[in-house]
Amino acid sequence: MRYNEGKSGDKLSVLGFGCMRFPRKGPVINVEEARKLVETAFESGVNYFDTAYLYPGSERALAASITGIRDKIFIADKMPTMLCVSASDFSKFFSKSLERLKTDHIDYYLMHMLTEMATWEKLRELGAEKWIAERKKNGAIRHVGFSFHGEQSEFLKIIDAYDWDFCQIQYNYIDAHNQAGQTGLLKAVSKGMPVMAMEPLLGGRLTNSLPKRVESVFREENPKYSFAEWALRWLWDQREVTLVLSGMNGVEQICENVRVADETRPGVLTAREREVFRLVRDEFNAAFKVRCTGCHYCMPCPHGVDIPTCFATYNAYCSINKITGIKQYMFNIGGLAPVQHYASQCVSCGKCEPKCPQRIPISQTLKEVAGKMESFWFKPMTAAARAIIGVNAKARK
Ligand code: SF4
Ligand code: SF4
Repeated sequence: MRYNEGKSGDKLSVLGFGCMRFPRKGPVINVEEARKLVETAFESGVNYFDTAYLYPGSERALAASITGIRDKIFIADKMPTMLCVSASDFSKFFSKSLERLKTDHIDYYLMHMLTEMATWEKLRELGAEKWIAERKKNGAIRHVGFSFHGEQSEFLKIIDAYDWDFCQIQYNYIDAHNQAGQTGLLKAVSKGMPVMAMEPLLGGRLTNSLPKRVESVFREENPKYSFAEWALRWLWDQREVTLVLSGMNGVEQICENVRVADETRPGVLTAREREVFRLVRDEFNAAFKVRCTGCHYCMPCPHGVDIPTCFATYNAYCSINKITGIKQYMFNIGGLAPVQHYASQCVSCGKCEPKCPQRIPISQTLKEVAGKMESFWFKPMTAAARAIIGVNAKARK
């Protein structure tokens, strides 16, 4: 494993473990599986594990997986900033995280999902700076940073608004000039801050659902590289990236990522490969209508809309073909089940939109989805199909 040493003085593995996507058994994390993955990663040299108060079950599963190695790894955890409404909330959420993690300190503590300067100003008014200073003084927090999803101009304001130790940005070859982007990365590095890259595979979309044309471009260029390898090579080619957080949920995936981390040195990409990424970015952006990563932060919708699935199937409609998209919509959105989660159920209440890290105009986009996927025949046909197979639809207001 390669390591980077930044302003913090810690030797951080260039591959970090994102614990948001620990394997699940139904709705709960499969702790035994998670433990095996953490063990494998640790034995391969990974020493940075990223969780959050808001990732359901993740802190406890990580705690159960690091017995005996707590002092050999770095834990990154996050304050649920969107839930903080009073000064006492900082200590309340932080104490809960320590309790779940069974630890007395967090190595890298982030203000979770700052999207604009106003969010940080609100936290500052609640006393965040004083609270952080006290925790750093007593050693409960070693380094403080923020994770960011928003416009680049907001990132550039936030980064100058406090003496941050590090930051975490969404960064991958599609987002090279989106959100904080390369400009934000370089700005952070100029301030001596380690930068942790999240969403290296854009929630799996850069491996599982690339447009066919993009797949061909990569395969023609080098059939030996998997799509994940292409994405990771783009990141580790850049010496400014301190580490790449990957939500690994299989041993094979860990082994592949560790191998690519070892093999990819900064400056490794050829001019031709850089050109391939430019081409692929254009193809990708032309093919996908909605930049949803499937993170589920916007859920649940009080009116029952399955927002990420609506967008995933709409993307399939636009990038694969209409029939595939509509079939997926029908089966995955509850067309044949007792309860439906259609895009047309959206009443534009707006509750979901502030929670979306990709800043998708959700209700407006759902109208577009409903218009394309739910033609005049769609609901009568699925209702008839339910009747034939004996499924009773439950009325939803
Ligand atoms: S805007 Fe629509 S999708 Fe979002 S929470 Fe409200 S009803 Fe649900
Ligand atoms: S709409 Fe936004 S918040 Fe919801 S799953 Fe997609 S990216 Fe995540």
